[in-house]
Amino acid sequence: MTAGCPPTAEPGIAGRLAAVGRRIGLACARAGVPPGGVRFVAVSKFHGTPALAAALEAGHRHFGESRVQEAQGKWPPLLERHPGTALHLIGPLQTNKAAAAVRVFDVVHSLDRPRLAAALAAAMERTGRRPDCFVQVNTGGEPHKSGVPVAEAEALVKECVGTYGLPVVGLMCIPPYGSDPRPHFGLLRALAAEYGLRELSMGMSASFEAAVAEGATTVRVGEAVFGPRPRP
Ligand SMILES: *Cc1c(COP(=O)(O)O)cnc(C)c1O
Repeated sequence: MTAGCPPTAEPGIAGRLAAVGRRIGLACARAGVPPGGVRFVAVSKFHGTPALAAALEAGHRHFGESRVQEAQGKWPPLLERHPGTALHLIGPLQTNKAAAAVRVFDVVHSLDRPRLAAALAAAMERTGRRPDCFVQVNTGGEPHKSGVPVAEAEALVKECVGTYGLPVVGLMCIPPYGSDPRPHFGLLRALAAEYGLRELSMGMSASFEAAVAEGATTVRVGEAVFGPRPRP
């Protein structure tokens, strides 16, 4: 080791939560959004209990998970110890897991097809739980990506609300990997305004400041908080 050059301190999860929170606050100030106007979901997928516990101890209360079974496995004991914690489903949802999803999650970000809307409505009816829903839009028109095509998004929103009575609060998108995300964020904002929806779930570790500038009301940040993800 070079003398006089100590290893940099690993800031740890609490430090990174605070740093991302500050960056969100600055982005809000630049965008003229009131402080606290953007919800910060820490994406904890593939991370184990010690990482989750560290974030909870630091006072964080919104977490994103991509898989129903993984969330069912690791969260219940933590939720018991930290009431007021909200879990967000950000990954694709199979219709046969809708009931389980409604039981464990407080917000569903990945509603993207009529059959899933029907399954979620039935699950809400059965469980009495009504997680807020975002309709996920495939803004990049990527063939194998989840999300409703832009051309079908309005019809899906109408069906979710009108036919199924789902609590749709807004739209969500995941821009194509490696492309400038801002046009996608701008498109999502325009679509939400057209449909009369207020919430926008957009922006990840590499793009949350751009997302706030484009009107995000929820950002989903993983690696900037928890570091590189272990393989699932
Ligand atoms: C994994 C994931 C994130 C977080 O991505 P990072 O690059 O780690 O911030 C956000 N949104 C969705 C839908 C994800 O699957």
